[in-house]
Amino acid sequence: MIPAETRYARASDLDHALELLAEPDSKAIAGGQSLIPVMKLRIARPSLVVDISRLDLRGVEERDGEVHVGPLTTWNELIGAEVLQRPPLAAVAECARGIGDLQVRNLGTIGGSVVHADPASDMPAVLLALGARLRLRSPEGERALAVSDALVGPFTTTLEPDELVTDIAIPMPPHGSGSAYASVEHPASGFALAGAAALATPDGESVAVTGVGLTPFVLSGDLSDAEIFGDRFAPAEYRRALARVVADRALSAARERAKVNR
Ligand SMILES: Cc1cc2nc3c(=O)[nH]c(=O)nc-3n(C[C@H](O)[C@H](O)[C@H](O)COP(=O)(O)OP(=O)(O)OC[C@H]3O[C@@H](n4cnc5c(N)ncnc54)[C@H](O)[C@@H]3O)c2cc1C
Repeated sequence: MIPAETRYARASDLDHALELLAEPDSKAIAGGQSLIPVMKLRIARPSLVVDISRLDLRGVEERDGEVHVGPLTTWNELIGAEVLQRPPLAAVAECARGIGDLQVRNLGTIGGSVVHADPASDMPAVLLALGARLRLRSPEGERALAVSDALVGPFTTTLEPDELVTDIAIPMPPHGSGSAYASVEHPASGFALAGAAALATPDGESVAVTGVGLTPFVLSGDLSDAEIFGDRFAPAEYRRALARVVADRALSAARERAKVNR
């Protein structure tokens, strides 16, 4: 459980970080709550670890009909953000509250969670249900990418190795909306055996699930048609049943919050 030898550099600003990340096999580190464990297991062996934790990419701001979340915003900072207590985006704070322990919530970041792309991670399901988009920067320039297009498989995204997430934009749902997150956790790891995020708006509803597939995904119909995976902790049919339960719970809670917001 000792990482392979590596070098470390702290980026002073975004351009400096991009310059450092141009080195092949380099990797950004934010809170280190996922990267350090995979380095200890030697699944990741970056030649250079680029510390981006001091970049000015933190905070939650509502503007132009969207809520912009800096990728370095920690779970605890999300829990404390006023706009994420309100019914339309309450799922974000609710989900963050259930992640890990106090240390993980103090250090772990929303950007790191999305890019790590653990198929059982909680927040990507919330971002999928809310239709969030990532803003990415690389030496070649900037682009926007829907979270649904970023997550393609277990621990796999469509980001280029030299791209950094610089913003997560969540469209503010219309008046009369509510959102919620519900999960059944593995008792030992605390990760979701099945988790679901729901958004209920006057125009329609959206549900995304996590912990049950190769990546979190938006439900496009009944769960009977969805490809669900099983492992030694929970067979596929048990996970499918759990997913139905948490999807119903999340949707009921989102509808209740929507009523309060009318
Ligand atoms: C004990 C423990 C319990 C946990 N429990 C849960 C849980 O219940 N639910 C859950 O969902 N998660 C859980 N986690 C995971 C944790 O929430 C995530 O690891 C964390 O949020 C990832 O953020 P980080 O800042 O630590 O990322 P890091 O570990 O620093 O980085 C993770 C990956 O993201 C990349 N990265 C980071 N920031 C950026 C960026 N801005 N742009 C591009 N790439 C970037 C890194 O290069 C790396 O590949 C747990 C972790 C631990 C250690």
